[in-house]
Amino acid sequence: MASKKVEDVLFPGIGVRVKGVSDSSGSLVVEAVSTARPGRCPTCRKQARRVHSRHQSALDERPLGSRRIIIRLQVRRYFCDRRSCSSPSFVEQVPGLSTRYRRSSIGLAGWLG
Ligand SMILES: [Zn+2]
Repeated sequence: MASKKVEDVLFPGIGVRVKGVSDSSGSLVVEAVSTARPGRCPTCRKQARRVHSRHQSALDERPLGSRRIIIRLQVRRYFCDRRSCSSPSFVEQVPGLSTRYRRSSIGLAGWLG
């Protein structure tokens, strides 16, 4: 168990890589990067291939004991390459992240402990 990677504890089966866990004013900040495969354009369903940009989204999770947990997740914006599509770009979704994360809060406690 000690050699288990933090990704496997926090986000089992989800395409994210954890860069670090830090303490910020009593909150636990989990820095993560999406490694999910490119998704499809939500408008026209075309498979995305080109990354437009990256940005950070913050997911505020329920507390672990008395501490808040904040996930800073770096997600990608993709171009939609279909010329007729009305969405030139879109932000990826990481399937299952928040629900799976909630389930594994105990895992986080164990990993930190
Ligand atoms: Zn599209």
